[in-house]
Amino acid sequence: MGKIYLHLDEGIPQFVCTECSNCRSLLGISLCTVQNRGCCAYFPKFELYDIHKMSKTHEGLKLLDMIRKLPGTEVYNYYIHAKGQFDEKGYSKFMQSVRASEFELDDKTVFFRTCPFVKPGKGCTLPVKYRHYICNVFICSEVIERASDLELYQVYTDACSSYARWIKWENDSLEMLLREKGITLNENFEEVVELLKDIPLDQYEFPPLPEIQIESGFSIGA
Ligand code: SF4
Ligand code: SF4
Repeated sequence: MGKIYLHLDEGIPQFVCTECSNCRSLLGISLCTVQNRGCCAYFPKFELYDIHKMSKTHEGLKLLDMIRKLPGTEVYNYYIHAKGQFDEKGYSKFMQSVRASEFELDDKTVFFRTCPFVKPGKGCTLPVKYRHYICNVFICSEVIERASDLELYQVYTDACSSYARWIKWENDSLEMLLREKGITLNENFEEVVELLKDIPLDQYEFPPLPEIQIESGFSIGA
């Protein structure tokens, strides 16, 4: 029996799932060289709200600098995209094989991708408070299907939707400000960070949520 519960890191919500440390879901399968990375095949974006949070502490600024200097990172006008490894050769070979049809997933590149921040067997190396919110709330459908109370999971989903709307509002407001000033992350990175440092950071009041029990069960295997 596992569980899903809400953890707050300095007010930043994370849905913790105890099943993840022993991931057996389809999305957790890795067919590339990096094993035991759960579903961290995602290449995360860091939006203006995330960068705003990082601009407030020395730790956050160091992290932002590290993310920016990663070889796969691309800086766009209003967000940063940290791209990890993608085993393109392995993917092409796999797609030509009969095995490909055994995996029921539209986007099979996930089996060959690895986020730059995951440590095999250990999980994410970024502090919860600086991760993109999707990283903090994502739980695969195979685990959700085993929730003892699906209505309760809907409460999690609703709380998450409100939080996502609030983050979007924050991102849109910051983007509007940068547009007014005629600056972008791509062209004026340092200037944007200095500006964000001086803008007060609003805190979202995430509601408390009860634990959800997860029935034991196995999927395709990771
Ligand atoms: S959310 Fe699902 S796929 Fe991702 S690590 Fe947890 S159990 Fe594995
Ligand atoms: S940032 Fe962290 S949680 Fe998100 S995909 Fe990468 S390793 Fe996983």
